[in-house]
Amino acid sequence: MSFDLSRVALKHRRTRIVATVGPASASEAVLRRLVDAGVNVFRLNFSHGDHDSHGALYSRIRAITAGVASPVAILADLCGPKIRVGYFPDGAIALTPGTTITITTRAVPGAPGLIPSEYEPLARDVKPGDRILLADGAMTLEVSGTDGVSEIEALVIHGGKLSDRKGMNLPGVALSTPSLTDKDRRDARFAAALGVDYLALSFVRSAQDMTDLRTLLEACCGPDDVQPHLIAKIEKPEALRDIDGILAASDAIMVARGDLGVELPPEEVPIIQQELVAAAVLANRPVIVATQMLESMIEAPRPTRAEVSDIAWAAASGADAVMLSGETAAGRYPVESVETMDRVLRLVEGWQWRHGQFGGLERLRDDTARPVDRALSRATASLSRDLRVRAVVVLTGTGRTARAVSAHRPAAPIVPLCTDQHVWRSLALFWGCSPRLVSTEDLDNQPALALRVVEKMQLAPPGSHVLMVWDTAYGERHWAPTVTVLEVPGTPVPQPDDVIDLG
Ligand code: PEP
Repeated sequence: MSFDLSRVALKHRRTRIVATVGPASASEAVLRRLVDAGVNVFRLNFSHGDHDSHGALYSRIRAITAGVASPVAILADLCGPKIRVGYFPDGAIALTPGTTITITTRAVPGAPGLIPSEYEPLARDVKPGDRILLADGAMTLEVSGTDGVSEIEALVIHGGKLSDRKGMNLPGVALSTPSLTDKDRRDARFAAALGVDYLALSFVRSAQDMTDLRTLLEACCGPDDVQPHLIAKIEKPEALRDIDGILAASDAIMVARGDLGVELPPEEVPIIQQELVAAAVLANRPVIVATQMLESMIEAPRPTRAEVSDIAWAAASGADAVMLSGETAAGRYPVESVETMDRVLRLVEGWQWRHGQFGGLERLRDDTARPVDRALSRATASLSRDLRVRAVVVLTGTGRTARAVSAHRPAAPIVPLCTDQHVWRSLALFWGCSPRLVSTEDLDNQPALALRVVEKMQLAPPGSHVLMVWDTAYGERHWAPTVTVLEVPGTPVPQPDDVIDLG
């Protein structure tokens, strides 16, 4: 047992980083620094801003990332039926425990003792005894009466200062609003027309919500348009009850712990997170763990020890990606937050590698994956470990084979080679993947191409081995998926035994 961790960190991080863009990071200079620090996916949060500002950010990110070797994807996050309080003339009011206040859905400004909300069905949806949580659960109200039209009386249980537009959660209340609001429909069409790679929906309650979103996109996209991949944000108890259906109807999920920890007791969140990550990996769907991962770095240049442990726990439990929200959107240290996340992840992944946690996992019960993909991916993962290969190169047309290989967590970096830039970008969210764009002509000699790419990426020294997952009958009428072991030509360079960095 050694506590010398100086040579443990991996060079090539496997867990992906999603960073939310906001006022602290919207400038070209900061966006560039975030890309250099290792952001794999930028998130545009449609809870804030308008189409003009999102359109401008989209173009800026695409311009900055044009020509990069590793893709940077863009995720548009639809706010769903998020309920918020309205505005107060002074920006905030005080809520005193033991007092009774009124919540109204009339279009009026707030005042001491009066909280406005734009959620029109509120007075019909709640009943006496229901709890209303405000500002991520910082304040609690208990409904004492409702007129069933627009006015609700509530007792303040836990008070505090309530400011403009803070969130309102109603745990256990069956909301009558559809999960896809009119605003979401407009935003989804807009984001799809922009060309975002991923589209997330908040407050998903059932698989049908994701099917509705897909139907909307099919109706607005032309037959040749590329549709964004869909992410279900899991933050409602109802979603947990339909998780298998939601996984089947989505391309990825997000454990949205902010609202999840308000809708459910916070102590349940770590266990639910663990179960959701396991379920998503088995279903061959990428999973993002989100919210408050480095919350203290909104104000401070160094994280708390608990935050570092949280990131390590998410990676060790198998998440594909971890997400930064306020840290990069509005914090004082957006670049440092990404750098911190990157360091924590590479170290914990190196430790996982040493403990044989990659390449040996029994995974993937996804019925939508072809049995051949499943078997080849499992074999690839164990070969990668047994042969200590330096890279796993995957020729992938639609991204499907790369996705199956990634889900088995092989012991070396995965290098998907694709000719389609939409596929290339979509793979930015997948665990362990460093995708590369190649031209169709390059595919004439695929083994030579694979060796050229890993050499250029400095992944594999002479004499080391690389695995290649490819179709030996490429361009012919039949399909012959194959795993090939390639030896990198040249005189082997002796490597010390404890150098495990496969990059
Ligand atoms: C969350 O609630 O954790 C989350 C990611 O959603 P948002 O930040 O959009 O509220």
